[in-house]
Amino acid sequence: MMRKRNSVLILGIASIIILTSVQVIIVGGIWKQKNEMFGLRYTMRSQEALYFINRRLGSDGFDTVRYVLSKYSDQAARELSDAKDSAALYNKKQEILKYFTIALDKEQDLSAMLAAYFERRRWDKNFVHSIVINDLEFIASDTIPVIHRRTGPAIPGNEARGRTGLSEVNGSKILVNWFSMEDNNYRLRFEYFIDFSDKQQYILRESAATLLLSIFSIIVVVTIFIITYRNLMEEKRLSNLKTDFINNMTHELKTPLSTITVAGKTLEMPLIRSNDEKIVETARLIGKQSVHLNQLINMILEISMWERTQFELEKKNVDIEELMDDIVGSFRTGGGNNAQIIKKYDLKGIKAELDVVYFTTMLNNLLSNAVKYSDKQPVIEVEGFRSEEGIFIKVNDNGIGINKNDQKHIFDKFYRAHTGNIHKFKGLGLGLYYVKKIAEAHGGDVSVNSKPGKGSTFTINIPY
Ligand code: ADP
Repeated sequence: MMRKRNSVLILGIASIIILTSVQVIIVGGIWKQKNEMFGLRYTMRSQEALYFINRRLGSDGFDTVRYVLSKYSDQAARELSDAKDSAALYNKKQEILKYFTIALDKEQDLSAMLAAYFERRRWDKNFVHSIVINDLEFIASDTIPVIHRRTGPAIPGNEARGRTGLSEVNGSKILVNWFSMEDNNYRLRFEYFIDFSDKQQYILRESAATLLLSIFSIIVVVTIFIITYRNLMEEKRLSNLKTDFINNMTHELKTPLSTITVAGKTLEMPLIRSNDEKIVETARLIGKQSVHLNQLINMILEISMWERTQFELEKKNVDIEELMDDIVGSFRTGGGNNAQIIKKYDLKGIKAELDVVYFTTMLNNLLSNAVKYSDKQPVIEVEGFRSEEGIFIKVNDNGIGINKNDQKHIFDKFYRAHTGNIHKFKGLGLGLYYVKKIAEAHGGDVSVNSKPGKGSTFTINIPY
């Protein structure tokens, strides 16, 4: 059972992990695909916009930049060729690169043009641009490379401005185009990117259905697993209870049996046979133990009978107070002869439809538990009253009490609270189970209120 439980646990957890990983991979794939789709869509849209800007406005969006740079490049070219040593040359190159970078970024008009175009088409226009310079050379007395990045094609000599068809998606950024520019002093090639700040939300919205379905399927599987595992635990608990029951039963049966065996052996002894009084005493003992044994066997037979059949009550209209007087009276002379039983019920003249035999069993079980689970002189109060909700019968004792956890289970079949040595209090864990069944068969219920060390109160409620 233990091994079965562990393998179910391992299998369950493994399948949940596999399922979750598969879902993560699927959702990840869909996310990537949507991301690429988004990139491609805006690549195409920006190509369309560039074409429009070129054709209609006759611009590539960098006219101002071109003007600013041509004014600056004369002096820059001169200073580059005048550089005294390599350190000065290096510093100058950095300065030029910085100037070009800032000029491209600040003076370009392409972003505004693209945004206007996107807006007109009701497309997303919440993008930020970025520009990466790939090549920059100065043509002074000699060609002086300022920067050369090994990406894309070399500086195109006769390429048209704003050449299209070279766009690609670079990470989250979308490459709109390569641009090249040149005048007498320099040749420049750079890339212009756009990036959408609300792209993630957009993709999230698009993949929401898949994401929700994934989460839902994981929740379903986890729930099924938890329910199955719980059932298995419950099965295990019941099987433990059954084992306990068999142990208790064996213990219960052995006691009278061994007494009978010993008594039989005693009768064989010549000394005893000559003593009539002893023979009678031993025979009585055997008789008493046989009755007890018979009761136990009947109980076992009853268990299966109770299991199989639904309760068929033979209800009679009885005077409850009289019935309770009978039960308490015979209990006093029987099992409860060392207990002090205080009658506190007031049900005079109240008649109810009850099965006398089952009702007696129910009350007897409560009374005998009150005596059994007691570590001092038992004082039992039997209350009874009628209210709007029906008839209430309470059996209150000053016994050992029941802790909170056991209270949840004591009405279960075969359940016995493990109070230290379980055999100190004999029993099979069925008394309260029957009490509950009988109360329910009468349309009522039973409940417990108890504090360990203080005593317990069992309340039976039967609708009237
Ligand atoms: P059994 O007495 O055969 O064990 P029951 O179904 O009558 O079975 O009771 C179940 C468990 O509830 C007992 O093992 C005992 O621990 C606890 N119990 C029942 N009645 C009392 C009581 N009056 N006081 C303390 N514990 C009780």
